Amino acid sequence: MRPRLYPYNVRAMSGLWDTRSPAEQRREQSGLLRQTVLQMALGHVPFVVARLKEAGVDARTFRGLEDLGRIPPTLRGDVFDPGRNPEGARALVLHGTEEGVKRFSERAVLLRVAMARLIGGEEVQRLAVEAASRSLHVHLVPGAGGTIPVAYTRDDLNLLARAGARLARVLGLERDDRLLNLVPAGPTLDHWGIFYMAHGMGMSALHARPRAGDLGAALGAAFEGGRPTALAVPAEEVLHVASAAAEAGMDLSELRLLVAVGRSLSAEERAGAARELAAAGAPEARVGAAYGVAEGRVLWGECVVPPGHAESYGFHTYPDLDLVEVLSPESGAPVPAETPGEIAVTPLGFRGGGAPRWRSGDLALGGITARVCPNCGRTVPRVGPSVRRSAWLRPVVLNGAETSLDLREAGAAVARHAEGWQLEIVRRGAANELFVYLVTRSEDPDRVIDLFEELERMEAAPTQIVLSTPEQLAARHRLAGGAWPRFWERTG
Ligand SMILES: [Zn+2]
Repeated sequence: MRPRLYPYNVRAMSGLWDTRSPAEQRREQSGLLRQTVLQMALGHVPFVVARLKEAGVDARTFRGLEDLGRIPPTLRGDVFDPGRNPEGARALVLHGTEEGVKRFSERAVLLRVAMARLIGGEEVQRLAVEAASRSLHVHLVPGAGGTIPVAYTRDDLNLLARAGARLARVLGLERDDRLLNLVPAGPTLDHWGIFYMAHGMGMSALHARPRAGDLGAALGAAFEGGRPTALAVPAEEVLHVASAAAEAGMDLSELRLLVAVGRSLSAEERAGAARELAAAGAPEARVGAAYGVAEGRVLWGECVVPPGHAESYGFHTYPDLDLVEVLSPESGAPVPAETPGEIAVTPLGFRGGGAPRWRSGDLALGGITARVCPNCGRTVPRVGPSVRRSAWLRPVVLNGAETSLDLREAGAAVARHAEGWQLEIVRRGAANELFVYLVTRSEDPDRVIDLFEELERMEAAPTQIVLSTPEQLAARHRLAGGAWPRFWERTG
């Protein structure tokens, strides 16, 4: 029997995305999650098929949010471990088929496909099926192990444009704004999220920077004689862009908003950017930020605050486009609301691929909150306000070799072999040591050797593995203290 499907497009297109009660949002998310899991599992995303099978989850009986905990969160290392995912990153991309679209689509897509046939015959119907089943736009996220592809179908790009329109509204932009996008072009969410913000809102935009590098040249070539009302720049350049624009002769007198893209800004950066703007002839311009998980699907924005206001109210998410969780970086288990932790995302309704519960490695310092935004009144979940990217990546020199140790990945590897554990990085001058403390399930020495080899493959071969008693380990956790006592870093 065909499972009952949820008409998500109808709800998502209504104008009410940001004012529903948390209970309504959860109900809708649950239906969307059920459908997304079904599409990914039965609609041919090989990685998800294998992962659900391994976890014993039958997508046909998956109930939604109440079953979310049955799906294990995914780390980059899960994708690139040849033992557990022989196909590698390719397995994250939809292997779509016409049959898959017809069997596992929500009503809105089925209706569209049927209408296409009525209106335009087989050829037009084929295009409608393709829009739902063929990946045609890809972002690439390089990192440890390899590059993660994030694929969009044509329908997915429409969702990205919808998210873009919302981002513009949250940031306080309108259709008659004129955007100068200085985020370097490339296969990244940061660039295309801003591109689709302009597209979704229908504002004019110049995407002026073909590559990273000289900001001044991009500014000089852009908007000769034009006056942008909004600038989007990588967050790292937020302090320099106004003076560079003034130097390039750009008229900033009509500028209303400077958007820092990629992360949150510190209070100092906000104040510094405002000072720069004032000096460059744009004293009224506001400063905002946009951020999204690099392997995610959409950019979120901060709601606009008055000039001179140092606080921000976090990144406003779209509850019908992704399910956002904050997890413990040690265990991958959800943490309570408004508690710091790692941002994990499950895109809802996107069909191009990906994995549910993707662990971003990004730290939300204030966690996630469902409380009504005191600034704009929106009821959507907000993350942040401060977000730190790659927060558990540590440059270390182990056994004479420089490497980048991901504490979450190493911790997950250790946790597969032990009941209790701690990773300790000891920094002695330029050289570092990595100790792994373990309370093992068995006395079997092979298990410890397996663990050593697994860490070695991650370029995190430990200096020493120390078998401990539960009491010894508890004492070490107390000594380390802090929010995540299984990750201990100290200077020797
Ligand atoms: Zn707000």
